[in-house]
Amino acid sequence: MSEPVLNIVATPIGNLGDLSPRALDVLSSADLVAAEDTRHSGRLLAHFNIKAEMISVHDHNERQRADLIIRYLQEGKQVVLVSDAGTPLISDPGFYLVRAVRDAGFRVSPVPGCCAFIAALSASGLPSDRFLFEGFLPPKSGARRQRLELLSKETPTLIFYESTHRILASLSDMAEVFGPERYVVVARELTKTFETIHGGALSEVIEWMQADPMQQKGEFVVLVHGAAEKENLLDAEAERIVRLLATELPPKKAAGLAAEITGLKKNQLYQVLIED
Ligand code: SAM
Repeated sequence: MSEPVLNIVATPIGNLGDLSPRALDVLSSADLVAAEDTRHSGRLLAHFNIKAEMISVHDHNERQRADLIIRYLQEGKQVVLVSDAGTPLISDPGFYLVRAVRDAGFRVSPVPGCCAFIAALSASGLPSDRFLFEGFLPPKSGARRQRLELLSKETPTLIFYESTHRILASLSDMAEVFGPERYVVVARELTKTFETIHGGALSEVIEWMQADPMQQKGEFVVLVHGAAEKENLLDAEAERIVRLLATELPPKKAAGLAAEITGLKKNQLYQVLIED
């Protein structure tokens, strides 16, 4: 009997031809397939003529399912985890399960394949040596802007997942926080019929998308050029100035004066002082 393993299997993000031969093999020999949505993944398995026992594993039942899956592994069975599309655990359930199975002493093995943000990054033309994958931004604009503020000085390429409903609102918040000139690439419906990868300044991409409502439909990866190192250098200088002024002046006055000297926002500079 082969060693029991929980295999983390990546599935296509659109084009079924992207399921790897090894993924097919592992799925075909599984005793149990744990899927985010059994109906959805059931269709994938049916397409490849795979008949396997299936159970659902989603955010609301992952703990109970982990116990059940560990029992299967204790019986020497082969288990597979898949999500609706792409790589499980990447903005998808499975983290608790993988940790529990590893803690129980069983092997967890990846069967790599599609991942929407890796596919998007590989074709975006944006720097790929350093990137920050942020997944989904908060749905409400206030919280979303706050998160974007925290990211605005990050120099690696920033990567987000976004849905049809919020794509324009998110791009608009990005333009507000990062500035309308920041370069963005929007990768839509990757590997599907209407795959589109479009880049430009945030303000241009927003206009382009507003002009063609079709471009607002589907699934999106949004990739934003990181902040220029130069901006950070300027900020370092601004920080030095505001701190120096604050040794002689109250924080608000110091921030106001520093804003006049550097051309940066008073609030931003005030923040530096109160964060101490
Ligand atoms: N686990 C998946 C992965 O490995 O990419 C991601 C799952 S997450 C719940 C779904 C999001 O991924 C979508 O809302 C969209 O932002 C992105 N996505 C998935 N498929 C995509 C595609 N074909 N083209 C563009 N983005 C896609």
